[in-house]
Amino acid sequence: MDPFGRTIDYLRISVTDRCNERCLYCMPKGYKGWAERADHLSADEIVRIVEQSTTLGFRKFRLTGGEPLVRKDIVEIARRIWDLPGVQTLGLSTNGVLLKDLARPLKQAGVRSINISIDALDPEIYHQLTGGRLEAALEGIGAAAAAGFEVVKLNCVLLRGINDHQIIPLADFGATLGMPVRFIELMPLAPGGPVDQQHFLPVSAARATLATHGPLETATDKPHGHGPAKYYKYRGSHVGFIGSVTCDDFCTTCNKLRLTADGKLRPCLGRHGEIDLLPALRDGKGGISAAFEDAIANKPENHSFAEDFEVRRPMTAIGG
Ligand code: SAM
Ligand code: SF4
Repeated sequence: MDPFGRTIDYLRISVTDRCNERCLYCMPKGYKGWAERADHLSADEIVRIVEQSTTLGFRKFRLTGGEPLVRKDIVEIARRIWDLPGVQTLGLSTNGVLLKDLARPLKQAGVRSINISIDALDPEIYHQLTGGRLEAALEGIGAAAAAGFEVVKLNCVLLRGINDHQIIPLADFGATLGMPVRFIELMPLAPGGPVDQQHFLPVSAARATLATHGPLETATDKPHGHGPAKYYKYRGSHVGFIGSVTCDDFCTTCNKLRLTADGKLRPCLGRHGEIDLLPALRDGKGGISAAFEDAIANKPENHSFAEDFEVRRPMTAIGG
């Protein structure tokens, strides 16, 4: 338990800071701060960390990045994590571009749930935002649906004046496929780029937009796990809103730590503290558990996005 009474049992594992897209809100233009390849955790190291964390009560794991599917050994990493005793759920977050070939192997390896980013259904806006091809992401969504994961969720970062007119088409698209769409507030994690505060759209505005189109009824249960989204019933499916910046109670149920691709344990996305695991992993002296305990003991009560947060690492380097 952390100092604020929260049980921390969820680890988000960034397996790489590299990506095959260039989302304006995640990776600053011309970004050069890539971790050295030698600092990237190996599959063995990731598995050792996860195994150790299960002895401390961690049960829920998600593979992310950067784009986790650009790692050649991603299926092996998923399978080895899923095979560990104590691992109860395993998810993966992806832009979907490489899912066409990987959805089925990932499902067979043990991945239970997939989150796929899709910020627009208009190919030009999708390209403007990500640098990628909408068609590839849609193929990935189709492959995820066919592979039979327990849950497939779609994620959209809200950007005023860029994709706000995509809210209704995206919610309807998700409802047709039976995939909850989660609308996420822009966090200040890619400074100096073309997307900034003037594009910030609060989840309250997105909810109001959607409510003009179809009834939104509060989902009283937690239909899709204990994450930070607030869910509503919408056209026979669900939509979720992740008010990372504007919702005062956003951090009250936070149950996670993050592991960066270069081996840092990060107690909070929106505060700078990190604990380096590489010495414990690579000097042979152990100490992984102590680093986890330190990270839990130093987990802040809340993020500081609305106060004095300055970006030192963009989202792609921290892990989403
Ligand atoms: N590449 C994968 C993807 O795009 O889903 C996984 C990593 S990505 C960093 C994880 C999630 O973080 C995505 O849903 C992405 O849209 C979201 N994200 C990235 N930068 C963000 C930002 N500045 N504010 C809010 N969400 C952001
Ligand atoms: Fe890559 Fe995902 Fe970041 Fe987009 S949001 S640049 S797909 S890591």
